[in-house]
Amino acid sequence: MDLPTARQRVDELRRQIEEHNYRYYVLDQPVISDREYDALMQELLALEEAYPELVTPDSPTRRVGGAPREEFNPVQHPQVLLSLNDAFNEGDLLDFDRRVREITGGQPAYLIEPKIDGLAVALTYSDGVFSLGATRGDGQVGEEVTANLKTIPVLPLRLRQSIPHLVVRGEVYMPKTAFARLNASREEAGEPLFANPRNAAAGSLRQLDPRVTAGRSLSLFVYQVISVTGAAVTTQAGALDFLAELGFPVNPYRILAPDIQAVLAEVQDWTPARRAALPYEIDGLVIKVNDLALYPVLGATAKAPRWAMAYKFPAEQATTRVEGVILRVGRTGVLTPTAMLTPVRLAGTTVSRATLHNEDYIREKDIRIGDTVVIQKAGDIIPEVVEVLPERRTGTEEAFTMPAACPACGAAVVRPPGEAAHRCTGGLACPAQVLEGIIHFASRGAMDIQGLGPAIVAQLLEAGLIHDAADLYYLKKEDLVKLERFAEQSASNLLAAIAASKEQPLERLLFALGISHVGERAARVLAGHFRTLDRLAGAAVEELTALPDIGPRIAESIREFFAEPRNLAVLEKLKKAGVRMEAEAPGAEAPDKPAGPLAGKTLVLTGTLPGMTRQEAEEVITRAGGKVSGSVSKKTDYVVAGEKPGSKYDRARELGVPVIDVSGLRKLIENKLD
Ligand code: NAD
Repeated sequence: MDLPTARQRVDELRRQIEEHNYRYYVLDQPVISDREYDALMQELLALEEAYPELVTPDSPTRRVGGAPREEFNPVQHPQVLLSLNDAFNEGDLLDFDRRVREITGGQPAYLIEPKIDGLAVALTYSDGVFSLGATRGDGQVGEEVTANLKTIPVLPLRLRQSIPHLVVRGEVYMPKTAFARLNASREEAGEPLFANPRNAAAGSLRQLDPRVTAGRSLSLFVYQVISVTGAAVTTQAGALDFLAELGFPVNPYRILAPDIQAVLAEVQDWTPARRAALPYEIDGLVIKVNDLALYPVLGATAKAPRWAMAYKFPAEQATTRVEGVILRVGRTGVLTPTAMLTPVRLAGTTVSRATLHNEDYIREKDIRIGDTVVIQKAGDIIPEVVEVLPERRTGTEEAFTMPAACPACGAAVVRPPGEAAHRCTGGLACPAQVLEGIIHFASRGAMDIQGLGPAIVAQLLEAGLIHDAADLYYLKKEDLVKLERFAEQSASNLLAAIAASKEQPLERLLFALGISHVGERAARVLAGHFRTLDRLAGAAVEELTALPDIGPRIAESIREFFAEPRNLAVLEKLKKAGVRMEAEAPGAEAPDKPAGPLAGKTLVLTGTLPGMTRQEAEEVITRAGGKVSGSVSKKTDYVVAGEKPGSKYDRARELGVPVIDVSGLRKLIENKLD
């Protein structure tokens, strides 16, 4: 490669990496995998090494993390919080060890710790009390998230020993189960999913409203003493003991290795199964010189210390064959294709299925039945097909096409314009949709009928005891006891649980009905506004779309739902059975609820709000007692404008309504709180 070509490529790589940094660190929404990102970074590093004249001080290879978001108070770190250099193989670790030995002139021991896949925070304790918490940000300046950190149950608010001043570094992470739960509920509500637990943790910690963070089950491991007065630590292993004695959560795994050979042996020991068994994600091991006195000797580059190295585990991939494609019909009729694979071991589990999302995805990757494919676990959780190996084709592979008729009921399958999904048009006549619909009706976020799981719903349908969700309320004990698996007691329990669900609040019923696109949040908005099912049934599209969270697509599907005679028949049966169809009287739930700093204020949102989804902004405002309206009028108190604001912004200017940005909103809430 000649210099001009190299320069061009370097510029291109820097542009791409900066863009990915922004999406990853600022928005918490990466669009490429960490492996792909690491490959770009390695290519840039190699080019900068080959052409030192192309190195610039602002190159992403020389900088830590991303810019802090401006909605948070900036915190200047007393000592720069660096990143780590990466090792991808044994050779990289041997190079690291050689450099360490060259500089120190000896053979230092190494401490091996798991590399927790979360985000780094610095915690300050004054006189033993937690006083300040900040994200790493760009290493120099982080974001102040003290209140959010206080919601993490394992974070000690007071130390077990009185230390005048202490700053420590740790990693906030989201356990695997909490991540799976969070994404499942976001999927239900039609919200964008987090790519992996690391981004979910970052997105959850960097919330303007700590109450949102509190609901996200975050946890923490602390692994470094940054500065301390009134105590002394001399080794990294000693520092971890000291931190544990003070009451910090410290990861139980650590190995002291006398030399790099012992490190390599330990790295080998980390099998995918061992990793999979941990309740949180680790993306590698951190290898640190144990003797802290050597840290100033070894020093650091602008990006990372020379006394530590992050060994990154290789991507867990496996090669297998697509045996066939099955279709699952969901409760709203969406047909989801799943690849049936020849079972193969991957990251500690046996995998026999991979999601294929939709027809476009299959076409784009050109996945055919009989193909040999490479699969991997995305965020180590859901297996997906990375690529097809066309050279392994024999000519007998078959392309997959979506059927014209629903595999469950035979009704026509259509692909609505603008959607990636194919849908069965059978509606309530489709047994698969009916089954999934009733399972959803009884599920936890919906009517929450204890003991009524998928198997029992299927059994009741098969026995002809129910045909829709409303029939549940007419079940009789004598019918149930005749069924396999039911005895006197279990039948009584189920009937009692069904009867108890009649009292669920209106918002739950609305969600339970399974109206397309109406997730839990939309159901809450609708119940809060209309307060009775009848009023909602009669609402015009304009009244619906004027509400926060309710767009034209949701409004349309609500109208369609209430226009369908079969749905009305189900509602009628529910009503007759005594299922609650009205919201509780206002204030009945929490009569002494404080009014909140935005009580009585109406706000309108416009444009893309940096660092917050619209729903999060609405939640913050509603929690502060304010109301979010869809249109600007003289009665509007504030318009909160983000990037690319729409006509609401112009209207606000016309009417003289104050326009604020996200940080203005935050101040408004905080100042009023004072
Ligand atoms: P890093 O994740 O590679 O490693 C450094 C971090 O490890 C430290 O900041 C610390 O937070 C953490 N850590 C966890 N356990 C630790 C322990 N026991 N001791 C010390 N540190 C520990 O570096 P980074 O700067 O946080 O992030 C860079 C990485 O982020 C890239 O390699 C890439 O994988 C990913 N990334 C991805 C994208 C994308 O678009 N997909 C974009 C930017 C960055």
